[in-house]
Amino acid sequence: MAYTSLRRVKDLHKSGSGWPPLLCSAPNGFITGASPSGSLKRRPGFGLIPAHSHLNQTCPWQVIAYKEIGNRKTLRISSSVFVLLVYGNLRRMRALVVKPGHKDTLGIIDIPKPVIDATQVLVKTQRVGIDGTDVEINQGAYGEAPESENLLVLGHEAVGRISEVGSDVRSLNIDDLVVPTVRRNCPDCPACHDDASDNCQSGDYQERGIKGAHGYLSEFFKEAPGNLVKLPRELEAVGSLIEPMSVAQKAVGQAFEIQRHQNWEPNIVLVLGAGALGLMLTLVSRSKGCDTFTYDLADSNSPKARIVEKAGGHYIDAKALNLEEFPKEHGWPDLIFEATGSSSVAFSAINILNQDGAVCLLSVSGRNHETKICLSCLNNHIVLGNRVIFGSVSSNRKHFQEAIQTAKYVDKQWPGVLNEIITDERTLDDYK
Ligand SMILES: [Zn+2]
Repeated sequence: MAYTSLRRVKDLHKSGSGWPPLLCSAPNGFITGASPSGSLKRRPGFGLIPAHSHLNQTCPWQVIAYKEIGNRKTLRISSSVFVLLVYGNLRRMRALVVKPGHKDTLGIIDIPKPVIDATQVLVKTQRVGIDGTDVEINQGAYGEAPESENLLVLGHEAVGRISEVGSDVRSLNIDDLVVPTVRRNCPDCPACHDDASDNCQSGDYQERGIKGAHGYLSEFFKEAPGNLVKLPRELEAVGSLIEPMSVAQKAVGQAFEIQRHQNWEPNIVLVLGAGALGLMLTLVSRSKGCDTFTYDLADSNSPKARIVEKAGGHYIDAKALNLEEFPKEHGWPDLIFEATGSSSVAFSAINILNQDGAVCLLSVSGRNHETKICLSCLNNHIVLGNRVIFGSVSSNRKHFQEAIQTAKYVDKQWPGVLNEIITDERTLDDYK
């Protein structure tokens, strides 16, 4: 969609080009039809076109010409009203989709542009982060299209700008920057009832871009304000990192909450894996002042290592140190986050955990990996050391808000670190 000119109606009329078909939108959100006599007849719910805030300052009505609507009657109207000519297609938009359950089906298609109701907002997508989850969905490993559809719009790490506001919405305004949450409540479990769908007990939740609901890799998406978190403008360029940071925020918060009963402070935190989630765990841990070690297969002079060290963490090249040797070199970790995707690494981590420590498992590993472990050794190690093992997945609105605070802190404390995590930037036009 492109706005190509803004002109007084009378100038347009003088040009002899004739009246374009028009739809009018009032500031209160009502859409109004135009009649040949020039009177404006209010017809709630008619038409497609929203109020547009910068026009409200100059006239009480906005008149929007839309060349594709051919059967509307033309309008004579006072010259104090401006016309916004819209060329292009208001009703369609591009989206990046996959066919879940099938390999390498990624493609761009045209889909209907969302139409909001009074309780929703329309968001123009600014940036979407692509991570391992998206790659695995495109490999057919998982992902689920919305009911009765066979394609899924990809993308769950987004930042966008509000472009339309429903008439009942009070908490958001046009041009606000927002980050959408990912999970949507199931119909009837206590956790979802409490807006904690990250802890859904029925499993019937949806996840935008992953499970049963379209994602954000389209030019626009619509949402209820309760599923959006406002983003400060200074974080726009790194806004797509708020989603993975919210997952890290939840995991770190859970660890401290679980351990609170034993007056516990972690002296050493070990993060296993330096993918997007591992780096976010490192940053959240560092923002809490924890001495943090990040362990990954990347070389010690890699960008990942540089990011960890810029944030005051210690990077360890897994090729240079077996995990079992970690306590001898650096001490026993009090808190370990596992984000490698390897179940053998996850269970090795338990063996190097300090007394009264906690291991948080965050990655999903292949279903068919089998290995031999000494169950009695594991049992005794956990029981006799008051050790805790817990899993953590997804996040809710509260964690997104916390993540924004952490991102602000990180950006101030270690400038440039967040930007370095984003490895490449592309537009939909780049996609072939
Ligand atoms: Zn639920």
